[in-house]
Amino acid sequence: APPRRAFSGSDPRVVLHEVYGYDDFRGDQADIVSHVVSGGDAVVLMPTGAGKSITYQVPALVREGTGLVVSPLIALMHDQVEALVANGVRAEFLNSTQSPDVRRDVERAYVAGELDLLYVAPERLNNAQTKALLQRGRLSVIAIDEAHCVSQWGHDFRPDYLALGDLGELFPGVPRMALTATATRETHREIGERLSLPSARHFVASFDRPNIQYRIEPKVDQRRQLVSFIKAQPEGSAGIVYALSRKSVEQTAEYLRTQGINALPYHAGLPADVRSTNQRRFLREDGIVMVATIAFGMGIDKPDVRFVAHIDLPKSVEGYYQETGRAGRDGEPAVAWMAYGLGDVVQQRRLIDQSPGERTYKMRLGQHLDAMLALCETVGCRRQNLLGYFGQTSTPCGNCDTCLEAPETWDGLVPAQKLLSTIVRLQRERGQAFGAGHLIDILRGADTDRIRTQGHNSLSTYGLGADLGDQEWRSVVRQLLARGILVAQGDYGTLAIGEPAGAVLRGAEPVPLRRDVLTRSSSSTRAKK
Ligand code: ADP
Ligand code: ZN
Repeated sequence: APPRRAFSGSDPRVVLHEVYGYDDFRGDQADIVSHVVSGGDAVVLMPTGAGKSITYQVPALVREGTGLVVSPLIALMHDQVEALVANGVRAEFLNSTQSPDVRRDVERAYVAGELDLLYVAPERLNNAQTKALLQRGRLSVIAIDEAHCVSQWGHDFRPDYLALGDLGELFPGVPRMALTATATRETHREIGERLSLPSARHFVASFDRPNIQYRIEPKVDQRRQLVSFIKAQPEGSAGIVYALSRKSVEQTAEYLRTQGINALPYHAGLPADVRSTNQRRFLREDGIVMVATIAFGMGIDKPDVRFVAHIDLPKSVEGYYQETGRAGRDGEPAVAWMAYGLGDVVQQRRLIDQSPGERTYKMRLGQHLDAMLALCETVGCRRQNLLGYFGQTSTPCGNCDTCLEAPETWDGLVPAQKLLSTIVRLQRERGQAFGAGHLIDILRGADTDRIRTQGHNSLSTYGLGADLGDQEWRSVVRQLLARGILVAQGDYGTLAIGEPAGAVLRGAEPVPLRRDVLTRSSSSTRAKK
């Protein structure tokens, strides 16, 4: 006979203590649990690591029946079920990795009322058979994890999520929850609408991570900057360095080791035993710097990560927030550091251009990138910008690079006009478009083969920007790109003028630019005003 269900009807706090070994609920957890236990629907917005799982697992245990958890991440599903089973919870999952035999056993156990929790991938729920199966048993609560996947505007849209809206009709009286760690105001609204949760209570936790200091700087010499950042951290600090490609992960880890930093690589292309050894060392030893692709960190529970460094630009502010959020989970001071450059912007625009998918989808990706760049190029508080992105207002934080040292700005109107008019001339008069490097050569009056063969030394703007150095010009280009005054196009990232360029050319739009890079390049090339 199946073991008798131990917890239904228990006090949630007793379940928390006996199943998880925790003393108390955190933040909104207790309120959410009691709201759901008493039958209410809930939309839960909580940053990663804040403890969303408890908020649906405890009600599932306390209420009569099986808790249904919709989760799109098969690996996480697996880990969670394993952890639950280890705690004595009767949990199972249904997904495409299972054999038909195993699946049948799980289905039978559910119908027989022997499961506390059942994890299901969203695509399974998009099918009548699964829905019929679920109706043959009894559900205690329905939790839709990663609920932002329902948003077509979000960075993680999954069409299968749209079909989850009718679960309310299929299972009347079963409280439903939508949970996510990433939601702008718009996504938040969409979740309520598309998952049909009109009367759900919304629980919105603050996204602020006050112990994380945000620092973003322009790339000048990436490796040197990374090494000096890491060496400035307290001895023995554990950290994660995120890179975009596997090759860059390996090369960076190797380079850091030559600099006396205890770095290990981690990416999906490494043999499984190397990955698990490196991961184990990162978790157990002091002061390991894990150089990894963004896949690393999901489900990794290491509270004392002291820094997260990005050497490539994340694709979105959501991604940046999630990755940097892996620092300082213990509440002690931590740093999120990033270096970004023009190459990042051009590379990402190219990836977007080349990605399959519709125009509107690409446009979305472009907007995510623009929001990320706006965070990079902001002259205001980084945290304010970041929280503002998630629809939360705040005052300047005093714990980010721009607050600690107000970025100097300078009037970039004239250089912007020179650059824009060069682009316009080349386009109108010769039907040509070029990348930043060549345009800067023209403005600086460089004597290159390409300039001579193209006859670009006869352009009226040739040499007109010799007062700024190469790095200075790159900073101008980057900031104009960030604001959409310039647009990078095609495989080579050739530059075209964007919509706001007209106002700049007329002198109707001021162009304050960050000075950052300017102070770094040699003063001999500085403007002589
Ligand atoms: P999320 O899903 O929001 O990213 P998790 O549910 O995975 O977060 O929880 C993050 C970590 O916090 C886990 O290690 C979890 O065990 C722990 N945790 C959650 N709630 C509590 C609590 N009330 N007391 C102690 N630890 C908790
Ligand atoms: Zn700040």
